[in-house]
Amino acid sequence: MTLSSTTPRPLVAGNWKMNGLSAALDEARAVAAALDQKPAAARVAIFPSALLLHRLAETVEGGAVLVGAQDCHGKASGAHTGDVSAEMVVDAGGTMVIVGHSERRTDHAETCAQVAGKVEAALAAGLEPIVCVGEPLEKREAGQAVTYVVEQIRNSLPASLTGQAFNVAYEPIWAIGTGHVASIDNIVEMHAAIRAELVAKFGEQGKVTPILYGGSVKPDNAREILAAAEVGGALVGGASLKAKDFLAIIEAA
Ligand code: PEP
Repeated sequence: MTLSSTTPRPLVAGNWKMNGLSAALDEARAVAAALDQKPAAARVAIFPSALLLHRLAETVEGGAVLVGAQDCHGKASGAHTGDVSAEMVVDAGGTMVIVGHSERRTDHAETCAQVAGKVEAALAAGLEPIVCVGEPLEKREAGQAVTYVVEQIRNSLPASLTGQAFNVAYEPIWAIGTGHVASIDNIVEMHAAIRAELVAKFGEQGKVTPILYGGSVKPDNAREILAAAEVGGALVGGASLKAKDFLAIIEAA
């Protein structure tokens, strides 16, 4: 997908992680129906498990909800048991993909170089990536959070993103699924540093690339977070599982 020249709408992305059986399709259906009734200012995307992706894409087809995968492999096909290729995501009806989520960097020891390879694969298949970065608690406590995240940006975003639609998500690891939200000052400082790096790397395009915040975004804190400088949307885990909560966050964008 190529880049539009205008400033993108905010993106509110729901990452279902390893949650959601068939019944969860009703939640996606409810989100789609609500957006049909009252269109949102934000773009909205849901990232279900790979097994639900196809059915979810069929469920929301023709509506405002975009669908994506939580990961893709860096290769187009081959002997990679249990993995899903970017082309398979497209084939199943997805248009986006999350890459480099901290849970994958931790659980599967994914490196920035591998994340960059996944971005390349996603672009080759025509997917719009959300590239996740974020520091662990010890880096934050050591005063090294910004340096750590900027390094992740440098090494996880390949030059081939130039001219392509993509998003960055800043997700401090200590804020994911913990109920501890980064302070607005922390968010603004980090988003400014990411913006500077994006501009250094991608020029004019880097000025408008959406930078999402993720980490315990809930209906009661979404408005303040989404109004902060350089916050171009939210990557939402737990609160995206229930249509009511997710819609309240979408409404705040
Ligand atoms: C996430 O899944 O990326 C996330 C930020 O989760 P949560 O909103 O539950 O912290």
